[in-house]
Amino acid sequence: MGCLGCCVERNDVPAVFTEPFIKGGYRLPNQPYHYYLRSLFFQHNEFLNMWSALITIICHCYLFKYCPFFSTLWVLNISGVLIHVFSFLAHTFSHYTSKAHISCYLLDFMGIYIGFSQVIPSFLVLQFDIAFDWAAICGALALLWNVTVFNSCCHDYYACWEPWFNGGSFDQKKPRVLTFVKKGVWLYGIIWLAMIAKMTIYPPSSGSYNFHILAIVSLLAECFLLTYRCPERWYPDYFEALRSHPFTHICAGAVTMGLVKAFLEDRRAWPDDYNFKGDFILVTLSVTNICCCFVIAYMTLKKIYLASYN
Ligand SMILES: [Zn+2]
Repeated sequence: MGCLGCCVERNDVPAVFTEPFIKGGYRLPNQPYHYYLRSLFFQHNEFLNMWSALITIICHCYLFKYCPFFSTLWVLNISGVLIHVFSFLAHTFSHYTSKAHISCYLLDFMGIYIGFSQVIPSFLVLQFDIAFDWAAICGALALLWNVTVFNSCCHDYYACWEPWFNGGSFDQKKPRVLTFVKKGVWLYGIIWLAMIAKMTIYPPSSGSYNFHILAIVSLLAECFLLTYRCPERWYPDYFEALRSHPFTHICAGAVTMGLVKAFLEDRRAWPDDYNFKGDFILVTLSVTNICCCFVIAYMTLKKIYLASYN
């Protein structure tokens, strides 16, 4: 059992656990589970990451109160919860073992892919005034696209770690963020451009306008912080805990909660637009999307675990 509250420097942990621009404040690796859970209450470089994810989960759970059971909004809210739950798990257990680290971050990216892809059906059903058969076909194609891109990202993720498991060297720059974000930019960028275009041509209800703007601005801020990692890039000694990452969580929370609130307001403004059949089809598609992502992540983890025993 290690010393609770003890932190070590970058050079004292295996390279796989190190974060760009973060010099110290690392928790001890290979400790029992409860050490990482209890790390919610002592200071280290993941401290604010854990809390910012946890607070967002609690806020999202509160929003369930307003989301009709098994509606598109309900699924959108679940997706928001999933993003932050897997993020919380990643920041909590990522220093446990190298396998836990790789698994946690794969699930973290799965949460992000599920969360953001669920915007597509919600957007189709709540924002576009198109026939629901068309919305269902577009939703199915969009979700199929998401599953294909996620599957391809998982393949790359596995390929990044494989040489390391087989005695090759570990290159911190290659895995994790880049494989998933690069491909995701296409997927999400188009959705957000469509949203901005739609909002410009057909403005949403007055109550939801600010929430849509909040979601779009927060997404841009999140992408900026994830890419440029300021301020720790400039002052690696002073920003171990108060680095950019907790702020990306806050931005992500503002995106997911902003969208739920915006769609809630739109539905309240135009109650006659509600169509049960369309909602049911899109919920079914969304649940299928979530299940497919879980299966793909499971298969990838199985492959990684098998490779790590060789
Ligand atoms: Zn995170």
